[in-house]
Formats: sequence, C-alpha cells, structure tokens
Amino acid sequence: MASPLDAELMDGAALSRKILEGCTLRAAAFAERAGRRPCLAAVLVGSDPASIIYVKMKRARCERVGVDSVVVELPDTATTLEVVGTIEGLSHDEGIDGILLQHPVPEGVDERAAFEAIAPNKDVDGVTKDSFASMAFGLLGFASCTPAGIMRLLDEYGVDPAGKHAVVIGRSPILGKPIGMLLLARDATVTYCHSKTVDLPATVRTADIVVAAVGRPRFVRGNWIKTGAVVIDAGYNDGNIGDVDFSGAASVARLIAPVPGGVGPTTVAVLIEQTISAAEKANSARTL
Ligand code: NAP
Repeated sequence: MASPLDAELMDGAALSRKILEGCTLRAAAFAERAGRRPCLAAVLVGSDPASIIYVKMKRARCERVGVDSVVVELPDTATTLEVVGTIEGLSHDEGIDGILLQHPVPEGVDERAAFEAIAPNKDVDGVTKDSFASMAFGLLGFASCTPAGIMRLLDEYGVDPAGKHAVVIGRSPILGKPIGMLLLARDATVTYCHSKTVDLPATVRTADIVVAAVGRPRFVRGNWIKTGAVVIDAGYNDGNIGDVDFSGAASVARLIAPVPGGVGPTTVAVLIEQTISAAEKANSARTL
C-alpha cells in the first residue's frame, strides 16, 4: 500500500512560470532599448538523444519569453580543439549574450577545456572556474543554474538555510559543490557526502535539508530522512526518475522537490534569466 503523502510538494514548474513571466517583461524592455532580442547560443556536441531533447526544450522556453537562440551542432567526432574554437568564436561574437555547452560532451572531448572557452561574461550556465570562484567568494557573477534554481525553490517555500544542517550528496563541479557553497553563503552548516562517505544513511538522518545529486535512481531511501526535513531531489535518471525514493521520503519530509517538476524547470528558468542579465550588462557597457 502506498504511504500517505505528508510532505508539501515544491512546485518547480509553478516557480519556473513565475520566473519566466519576469523574463518576458525584461526581454521586451531589453529589445526596446537595444533594438534586438537577447540571444543564447547552445553548443551541442554529438548525438546524445537526451541532450538533443534538452537543447530543444531550452530553445522553446527562450522563444516563449522573447529570447533568441541559436544552436551550433558539432559531430560526435569533434576534437577538443574544434569545440574550444567554436566556443571561442561565440565568446567573441557581439550578437551572442550567453553560451551553453550542453553537458555531457562525447568522451573524447575535454569538457573542462571546452567550458573554460566560454567568456565569463557569457557564462550564463555558470560552469567556468571564474563563475565557480565568484560563487565561492560570494561575488557577483553567474551562478551554476541548477544550484541557483534550488536556492530559488528554498526561498519560494520560505526555507531559511541559516543554522540548518544541509547534507549534499554529490560533489560534482556543476551541482554538488556549488549548491553546498550557496547554502554555506546563506549560513547553513554544510556536509558534503560522496562515494567514499562512510555510513551515508546516518549522516543523512542528521540533515534538516537534504540535496540528492548522485545520479542513481531512488538511491536515497525514505528511512534515511529525518522527520520534518526538506528534501531536494536534484537527480534526473532515465524514465523521469529522481535520486530519492519519493514515496518513502514524502511520508516523513516536510517539503519535497519531486522529479519531474521540481528542480528541473527552475534550472531552465535561471538559465534564461541569466541570459537576459548578460544581455543587459553587455548593452549597458556598450552604451556607456
Ligand atoms: P556526477 O558528476 O556523476 O556526480 C555524482 C556524485 O554522486 C559524485 O560526487 C559521486 O561521488 C556521488 N556518488 C556516486 N555514487 C555514490 C554513492 N554510492 N554514495 C554517495 N555518493 C555517490 O553527477 P552530476 O552531474 O552532479 O549529476 C547528479 C544528478 O543530478 C544526475 O542524476 C543528473 O542527471 C542530475 N542533474 C540534474 C540537473 C537538473 O537540471 N535537474 C542538472 C545537472 C544534473 P564521487 O565524487 O566520490 O565519485
């Protein structure tokens, strides 16, 4: 029998609509001032079906709010040099405000080198070392989109991280590490867990806020969750399955961000919002 759903759902789709409404107004005001629409360039290397769908979906969201987008497709056989060269070209192109390199790239490509070819003022996905450092130092800059979307979800549901114990499971440079930094900046006490963590369930049981960023379907079990905790499932696995055992966790948590409809939509909304910010900054720098 399914357990009763006690936790309130954190509705990322609704929050995303709200963010995108603001984007529509800002994009229109920008177009009025600048005589052109903000523009996002998506670089798609290879033919991973999920990546193709993600890029298509991001472009459709851009179109809906009045942001132009272009996609630059490179074959599976593209070399690191070719990918870096393409991104450097976009970094120098005045008609492009933001650059997104769709992750993951084919194995033969050095993804870090490709990310670093993105000019910091166009790094609207927040993947460069420069953006990472800004997040770590609490300086202005583009945040990594998924972590920034998670913070927006927490704010939307009135979760103040200050003084809370946040346990982040995962330490990737685009998700686990930056979300821990953003939570720390908001005065949470942060514990990072990873594949070498000893007795993960015991650590998770001490968490007021759990962020699951593992990449393993239903990995975090309901009986690891402290009663009343806030559970953010950032995972996205084949078949629309998150990293958290949803029904188990929802029966003890106070708030839970589900998959789908939780973190995912906010990520895309933040990407578009940051593209508009990049366009606004570039335009005001040019008109100074
Ligand atoms: P990743 O680079 O593969 O990192 C996975 C992390 O999980 C690593 O730090 C790894 O530890 C840790 N891990 C693996 N097995 C573990 C275990 N048994 N116990 C504890 N920790 C373990 O993945 P990622 O790019 O961060 O993505 C994580 C998940 O988030 C994926 O499902 C991905 O699809 C999803 N995601 C969603 C969005 C979105 O927009 N919603 C965006 C990005 C990613 P080690 O460091 O020790 O290897």
